[in-house]
Amino acid sequence: LVASMEEVEETYIMIKPDGVQRGLVGEIISRFEKKGFKLTGLKLFQCPKELAEEHYKDLQSKSFFPKLIDYITSVPVVCMAWEGIGVVASARKLIGATNPLNAEPGTIRGDLAVQTGRNVVHGSDSPENGKREIALWFKEGELSSWTPAQQPWLT
Ligand code: ADP
Ligand code: MG
Repeated sequence: LVASMEEVEETYIMIKPDGVQRGLVGEIISRFEKKGFKLTGLKLFQCPKELAEEHYKDLQSKSFFPKLIDYITSVPVVCMAWEGIGVVASARKLIGATNPLNAEPGTIRGDLAVQTGRNVVHGSDSPENGKREIALWFKEGELSSWTPAQQPWLT
């Protein structure tokens, strides 16, 4: 599925435990803010095992799955919902390739990470998964739809 460049979408972005532990929370949030996307949900959260397994259920058969679940549940993560035109694909571009050694300089993983198993950030891979993951990680009252004052370029 190709996302329309005109469409307002939502995506789930998560700063993984290594990003939190290394003090990269502000740096990572800043990249999405500066790009011009709108933050609609934000929390620091200790992820239970069941939620990590549900989030990554498509990778269940992979050999690295148990390590991935240990990693994601090791230390709190920062959960975020971001909204904007084409935000799903754009966020994936800002994040860079899964293996940080293949991620271009200028991307989050390209600038800040080395190992695939410690790649500091997650971003939804489709608008459908954006909705699915936001519903998975946030309760209804935790999300806010707000209008930026006098910043029509963000609406
Ligand atoms: P992405 O996060 O770029 O969408 P995937 O959906 O393929 O990448 O994988 C999800 C996450 O699983 C990766 O971000 C990474 O943390 C972990 N992962 C993927 N492949 C490996 C691997 N070969 N070894 C260890 N961890 C991996
Ligand atoms: Mg993925």
